[in-house]
Amino acid sequence: MSGREVVIVGAGPAGMTAALTFATAGLEVTMIDDNPRAGGQVFRAGSDYPGLDPRADSLRTLLAAARGRIEHRAQAEIVAVFPDRKIWVLEGERLSELRPRALLLATGALEVPVPVPGWTLPGVFTLGGLQNLMKAGGIVPAGPLVLAGAGPLLWLVAWQMSALGVPVAAVVDAAMRPPLRALPRLLRRADLLAKGMGFELALRRQGVAMLRGHTVVAIEGKGGAESVIVAALDAQWRELPGTRRAIAARTVAIGFGLRPNPELAQLAGAALHYAPAFGGWAPRRDAHYETSVPGIFAIGDGAGVVGVDHALAEGRLAALAVLRHLGRPVPADLSERAPYAEARRRRARAFAAGIADWAALRPAIFELAEPETVICRCEDTRRCELEAGLSLGLDAPGPLKLRTRAGMGLCQGRTCTPALLHMIARKTGAAIADLPYPTARVPLRPTPLGALAGLQETAD
Ligand SMILES: Cc1cc2nc3c(=O)[nH]c(=O)nc-3n(C[C@H](O)[C@H](O)[C@H](O)COP(=O)(O)OP(=O)(O)OC[C@H]3O[C@@H](n4cnc5c(N)ncnc54)[C@H](O)[C@@H]3O)c2cc1C
Repeated sequence: MSGREVVIVGAGPAGMTAALTFATAGLEVTMIDDNPRAGGQVFRAGSDYPGLDPRADSLRTLLAAARGRIEHRAQAEIVAVFPDRKIWVLEGERLSELRPRALLLATGALEVPVPVPGWTLPGVFTLGGLQNLMKAGGIVPAGPLVLAGAGPLLWLVAWQMSALGVPVAAVVDAAMRPPLRALPRLLRRADLLAKGMGFELALRRQGVAMLRGHTVVAIEGKGGAESVIVAALDAQWRELPGTRRAIAARTVAIGFGLRPNPELAQLAGAALHYAPAFGGWAPRRDAHYETSVPGIFAIGDGAGVVGVDHALAEGRLAALAVLRHLGRPVPADLSERAPYAEARRRRARAFAAGIADWAALRPAIFELAEPETVICRCEDTRRCELEAGLSLGLDAPGPLKLRTRAGMGLCQGRTCTPALLHMIARKTGAAIADLPYPTARVPLRPTPLGALAGLQETAD
């Protein structure tokens, strides 16, 4: 198999559907993902769990049947992308280079954690981190469990944990109930709305405390979480004085929604734009899913957080657009089904905009960090160090990173970038959309020097 004309990065719903569509059209493709199995975030399950989506196994079965046309390179990381579509693939100690005619980036979303005092204590997780332990290994945490944040993932994970028998002490949602103005959009996916209400009902039956318009403002404990301090918030998610109280918690899960992962598009030199309804910074695309770099396409949550059904639809539609881009014939039955995928895509986008209207993060929440609170976990950079840099006039991500090292550690800013940008915006009065997004660097992930030397030999 040559498998080089098209390379897809990401084997989540978007990447898998794109690969299957190419295979149906008779094209050989390579799909690269850093996980051991195909599935991405939502379909990653290694074991059974509450709410397991049966589409995950169906897609993997189709993938196995199309093995002759789809080369799936698992546990492989893309550590570099260049404007001429050249990519570096790291597999163990080996680095190789590919240069497809079309590159599809289906790299999914990142979580948005909000640093509060005590958030780096053992026993504190992100919502997705806790869910991944359950999905990958059936691992459930010790109770009492407190979950805090905003958005659908908060209620889903709370329900999953409760259904698995974990004692859930409280769900602490910074948002109030969805505003009436969001209803028309939310009703475009009445099935999902009903599902969310079902989660709440089930939690209520279990006697779980539900605090809306509140958040966890601190986590306390010696050597690990023992309790959380919750407080009421105003409409901007600023803490209301005199409302603090403690709740016992051995495990805490926090998450304030998701944002697109734009790093590979950014490395390729693609223009980014800020789309608040879809999680923030993402690669700008034209109507055919192509970024500003010719031949590089972006799909799924990596191009704007909308959800699994949208990712499935975009995978199919983008594959058709790429076939046309390559001058390949598009089988009639695939073309005929495209309008249905387009309709699903539109419904999903309307629903996501309704969700953002209800639960999108309000920047004042980042004020919960105290001077000694760690903002960048990888480099141990505290808020006071960032404030010191800002007071020297280093009010852009680049100089602030160079001074404080925030965002320059192992995760390369995947965790602290939202907090960093909000601190700069607050200091300068600039809108987040007007700030430059922090630069991504090659190699994107830790790469052994031997692997880089090996690539040099190949290139020579
Ligand atoms: C932590 C987390 C938990 C979530 N849980 C749920 C849930 O329970 N239910 C739900 O409906 N939605 C959930 N979502 C949202 C869900 O991820 C998406 O709606 C859906 O999975 C998007 O599909 P996708 O194909 O765009 O991306 P993903 O499914 O995220 O797939 C992207 C894939 O690309 C891989 N990748 C990224 N960068 C690289 C690289 N440089 N090299 C190699 N591989 C790379 C990723 O590891 C991942 O496997 C969750 C999101 C996150 C971040």
